[in-house]
Amino acid sequence: MKKALVCGGGGFIGGHLVSRLKEEGYWVRSVDLKENEFGNDKSDEFIISDLRDPKVVQDVVTEDLDEVYQLAADMGGAGFVFTGDNDSDIMHNSALCNLNVLEEIRKKRVKKVFYSSSACMYPEYNQMDPDNPKCSEDSAYPAAPDSEYGWEKLFSERLYLTYARNHGIEVRIARFHNIFGPLGTWDGGREKAPAALCRKVAQIEDGGTIEVWGDGKQTRSFLLVDECVEGVRRLMESNFSEPVNIGSEEMISINDFAKMIIDISGKTVSIKNIEGPRGVMGRNSDNRLIKEKLGWEPQMTLRESIEITYRWILEQVEKQKLISV
Ligand code: NAD
Repeated sequence: MKKALVCGGGGFIGGHLVSRLKEEGYWVRSVDLKENEFGNDKSDEFIISDLRDPKVVQDVVTEDLDEVYQLAADMGGAGFVFTGDNDSDIMHNSALCNLNVLEEIRKKRVKKVFYSSSACMYPEYNQMDPDNPKCSEDSAYPAAPDSEYGWEKLFSERLYLTYARNHGIEVRIARFHNIFGPLGTWDGGREKAPAALCRKVAQIEDGGTIEVWGDGKQTRSFLLVDECVEGVRRLMESNFSEPVNIGSEEMISINDFAKMIIDISGKTVSIKNIEGPRGVMGRNSDNRLIKEKLGWEPQMTLRESIEITYRWILEQVEKQKLISV
């Protein structure tokens, strides 16, 4: 039986990844600052601890592990990442997790590690035109991410690559593009656009208006978490050791995305665009490399994926209403 450690296993993608590894027959240890918000934990061992502390990392990274998945990061949606208020935490906390985990992997001679980077590391100058963003893997340099979150991801990608080069550790790096789905944060300030839009639509009365940050023309692509986990597992099983995009190529403007969710809800809802943290004007995954190297591409449309998520968030909103009555 293979043994894996999932750092950030109490988080959204981490929780789904643990479930997938268990389905595949792995023994799994998870480490996180907190338990999974929605009780989505299938780990054999769940340790609540802080990976910024090297002593903790010494204990959780053990010689018997076959693989480590490093997803722990101080992160959130635009309201957390793009305001500037959390920049020092984002850089300090996430970099420490990566530095500690990787050094311990070296000491314990663990062979393989996965690192979750982000599309936020791509340069802002290639993402000014909402209709033609460029996010091919080879467009990363000259570097100019638009957030400190993106800079930390870029630094850590390079850190992992140095450990591969100098210590022979097998490193797999994915640049995730807007992953969403059930069992993800949907309120509280760290939620990302798909969950925030689903929540707003689920909460609003028929005939009401929801607020959408920015002018609504900014474009993105979004990927359902199950598809993301499939990509991660394929990457881990492959020999491909360079950073690669894991995302969808189905680009949509934020207002059209909101309209899609409104349509799914069956309600009549208007959109009011307001000032708010927005990020780059355009971003889309470029899947040519991952298709070529791993034969991976998303299987579901955005509409099918967001419908599953909307239904789940609607349930959460209704549960919350019952509690507050
Ligand atoms: P998440 O916030 O749900 O998961 C991250 C987890 O890391 C959280 O549970 C958090 O408690 C944990 N963590 C943070 N600091 C820690 C510490 N010091 N010690 C232990 N645990 C700690 O986020 P997610 O959406 O599941 O993202 C997982 C990874 O994927 C992150 O590295 C994120 O940057 C990356 N990523 C996500 C997306 C996305 O759209 N969700 C996009 C690009 C990259």
